[in-house]
Amino acid sequence: MTFPEPLRAREPRAAARTAGGVLAVCALMLTVVAVLGPSGPHDATPTVMWASVAGLVVVAAAFTRLPPERLDRAGAFVLLGITGVTVLCLLAVGSGSTSTRTQAFLVFAVLYAGFHIRAAGALLVTAVAVAAGVVMLFASQPVTSAATDSLFFGSMLTVLGVLLTHAVGKQERLVAALQQQADVDALTGLVARRVFDEALEERRHAPGPDAGTALLLLDIDRFKMINDVHGHLAGDDALVHLSDVIRRQIRSVDALASRLGGDEVAVLLRDCSREVAARRAEELLDAVRRAPLRLPDGTHHVLSVSVGVSHVPDAVADLRELYSSADIALYTAKRGGRGRVEVALTGA
Ligand code: GH3
Ligand code: MG
Repeated sequence: MTFPEPLRAREPRAAARTAGGVLAVCALMLTVVAVLGPSGPHDATPTVMWASVAGLVVVAAAFTRLPPERLDRAGAFVLLGITGVTVLCLLAVGSGSTSTRTQAFLVFAVLYAGFHIRAAGALLVTAVAVAAGVVMLFASQPVTSAATDSLFFGSMLTVLGVLLTHAVGKQERLVAALQQQADVDALTGLVARRVFDEALEERRHAPGPDAGTALLLLDIDRFKMINDVHGHLAGDDALVHLSDVIRRQIRSVDALASRLGGDEVAVLLRDCSREVAARRAEELLDAVRRAPLRLPDGTHHVLSVSVGVSHVPDAVADLRELYSSADIALYTAKRGGRGRVEVALTGA
């Protein structure tokens, strides 16, 4: 069974690291108290303290050792917050040690949840922490002062939990928006050069032998003329149009397209032989030719592209050489009359 998404961690790896660290610190603090002896009449007995230390060490080890994604799927992070708060409350009420010091631990739970668990889970932990605080206060004080303190303590924890959840959520959305801007070309929606190069690099770690890796470089022929005659916006339309045609033509499972800059687009073909790469390049060229660009004045302009292809039999040996082979092939295609495919002879 997988835990509902809204109750899971924002980043399981970071949540597991913090959980392991916080639990280890708690174990250390309890060890110090257990060694120095109880400081008050209501502190837990040494047996309970050492049992708690052992329990904390085991749970900390589990959070450090087990795969974070697996822990997250099991809802371990939100359960840690809820269980931690509940156990603390039961121990405090059971031993009569419901001091401010014990209640302060509830703040840790709210901070942990606010930072590491998604909004619904963080608010759930906050609600449980508020309830635990109220129970502790009523267990240790007369009803009137417990009610007043509960109001203050509950409001403080709730405001802390809500503000933190809101702030972390906003920061997360901001990071996602920046990531999207960094990963995608704003005009065409194709992936950015960095993402494309990372995908090429990943080919080094491709499992098992396959048909190889191909790089196709496409460049619009006489693109400057479209800009000069029909305007820069029509040029932009041509770039978007070309990208749409390429996107429709390639299979996203084994191909990736990126705008390298200007009117040049790169296509990576995974597990693809030199022959198939050459055929796919011809198909792309045909697809662009068969889909004329509609200009702002209603007329149609047949786009022409030149394509340079380079290929390596398996893993990418050298990214720069793969690019430079495709680049030389593209240059040859341009010099050979444009509107054609040129395949690099030797690969990278
Ligand atoms: P060739 O057939 O040799 O490729 O000739 P070309 O005219 O296409 O020459 P080139 O590929 O060098 O042209 C690139 C032009 O693309 C130059 C630049 O003004 C234009 N350009 C670059 N980025 C953009 C853009 O985002 N929008 C538009 N409209 N034009 C752009
Ligand atoms: Mg061009």
